[in-house]
Amino acid sequence: MLKNKTALVTGSTSGIGLGIAKALARQGANIVLNGFGEVEAAQAEVAALGVKVAYHGADMSRPAEIEAMMAAAAAEFGQVDILVNNAGIQHVASVQDFPVDRWDAILAINLSSAFHTTRLALPAMQAANWGRIINVASVHGLVASAQKSAYVAAKHGVVGLTKVTALENATTGVTCNAICPGWVLTPLVQKQVDAKAAALGLSNEEATKLLLGEKEPSMQFTTPEELGELAVFFCSPAANNVRGVAWNMDGGWAAQ
Ligand code: NAD
Repeated sequence: MLKNKTALVTGSTSGIGLGIAKALARQGANIVLNGFGEVEAAQAEVAALGVKVAYHGADMSRPAEIEAMMAAAAAEFGQVDILVNNAGIQHVASVQDFPVDRWDAILAINLSSAFHTTRLALPAMQAANWGRIINVASVHGLVASAQKSAYVAAKHGVVGLTKVTALENATTGVTCNAICPGWVLTPLVQKQVDAKAAALGLSNEEATKLLLGEKEPSMQFTTPEELGELAVFFCSPAANNVRGVAWNMDGGWAAQ
């Protein structure tokens, strides 16, 4: 379905971003990966699906590096047809104790980076009259949790940016939608399980159960593979008129 299209997925060296990159690659899209850490392993996993893979190590908190990444993607593949804004970080503290540098970093990486990639990707998508922008927000783009002021503010911002981008392109073939996962067992969440286990003297299994039980009625993690399939749906012809939605895959979290 996505042969001859190019998808750029930010923060795709692990977790949800890698899951989405692989789901789009299974549909034939060439992939531009981004992120830190296990770059070669991620590249090999996507290349094994038979598509072309490029990598750019832009730090998503730096607009100049984002501009370089978008230019490199266009130079390599012609243009970016599918943009998945996924890179994100977390920090947990009450508002009065929240480190100012963590606030700035979360706003830059989780929100402003999506503005920069979107403004840079849109002209070519508009010229082609086809494009898909998929913002990985969070259930925290819809509801709040204590201790997560920067993350919740950034993710509500991502949902807002999604709606505006969708509206400004509503009469074109360019759509913009958000995905709002509940708990997904990635390194970002394992850190929160580890913190709970250490603070309460629990095993990994007990801490995991407690984490799910506090928020997620299904008592199950959403998987990167399931989120990848939702991204594939947003790229399909059936989703031509799906515009500006914030679609939660959260085991019932926001239904409560
Ligand atoms: P993860 O830690 O597994 O992956 C994050 C990715 O972002 C990695 O590839 C990392 O290298 C990259 N990254 C981090 N800082 C970066 C920077 N400055 N520049 C470029 N890349 C950077 O996390 P994840 O759980 O897969 O999270 C992916 C997205 O999904 C995030 O936006 C997160 O907020 C969102 N999300 C996660 C969950 C969850 O339960 N895990 C739930 C809802 C939303």
